[in-house]
Amino acid sequence: MHAAAPDVVREAGSMRGLVGAARAAGRRVGFVPTMGALHAGHASLVARACRECDDVAVSIFVNPTQFGPREDFALYPRRLAADLALLEPLGVRWVYAPDVAEVYPPGDATRVVVGGPAVRFEGERRPGHFDGVATVVCRLFLAVPADAAYFGAKDWQQTLVVTRMTRDLGLPIEIVVCPTVREPDGLAMSSRNAYLSAAERPRAVALREALAAAETLWAAGAGTAAIEAAMRQALCGRDVDVDYAALADPDTLAPPGELPRRAVALVAGRLGSTRLIDNVVLPLREPPVAAAP
Ligand code: AMP
Repeated sequence: MHAAAPDVVREAGSMRGLVGAARAAGRRVGFVPTMGALHAGHASLVARACRECDDVAVSIFVNPTQFGPREDFALYPRRLAADLALLEPLGVRWVYAPDVAEVYPPGDATRVVVGGPAVRFEGERRPGHFDGVATVVCRLFLAVPADAAYFGAKDWQQTLVVTRMTRDLGLPIEIVVCPTVREPDGLAMSSRNAYLSAAERPRAVALREALAAAETLWAAGAGTAAIEAAMRQALCGRDVDVDYAALADPDTLAPPGELPRRAVALVAGRLGSTRLIDNVVLPLREPPVAAAP
């Protein structure tokens, strides 16, 4: 474990050289991409990377291309000093914190365009979002050519998009998906939770309550329509504006049919101007028993 404060690296070329030298010396390098404003969810990814790798790089970069024109890019919290303080005891060796011009050189005209699992849900509500995610992740993987990259299940669709892009482009990096870390009341930790007002914060538990309802009904053998209706009701019951509350195939995000054996439950909703997402992968269940002739 790296026992000192992480070195802050600003240039892709320097970062690539440091990671390359570590790997050439036989060290396993882990990478955790983030947008900063770090919390215990990020820390859990970093802790796992530090357990499984000899050296860990964390990137802190608020990526402009994944925000829509009416989204919160300008407002997004930026607090590098606090982030470095959170990372220091975890054993992170490098923090890669490039400027926008380092990632997107002036005149840049190249994007990674993603389909498949990127199309539904966030892809429908946030046009271009996943092209921006895929583009930045690809560029970060070039700057930080690690053995493995760690992502949170909190952003389930993102993990599918990144895994698919990595496979389709043949990028030589392993994608590791880590469990969602939650507040004591069940709200998934997110940098955007800081936007919630004191009145909105207790209502935000509705997302986790909707997923809990899905888990209960799923275990009882309920069908997709009933489960989706219950999720929607849980969100509306606390005045959350529902963007979606749905079951989907956990690997492709295709519609799952009425009585699937495998599914992920996905919710997205707004409290005031804050948009939150959450999900849970439901356990494999037995096929329904055929009715007697
Ligand atoms: P972000 O800074 O929001 O782009 O997130 C960086 C990484 O941390 C992504 O892989 C997220 O999925 C992951 N992450 C964010 N919140 C959580 C959480 N509550 N639990 C686990 N991972 C998380």
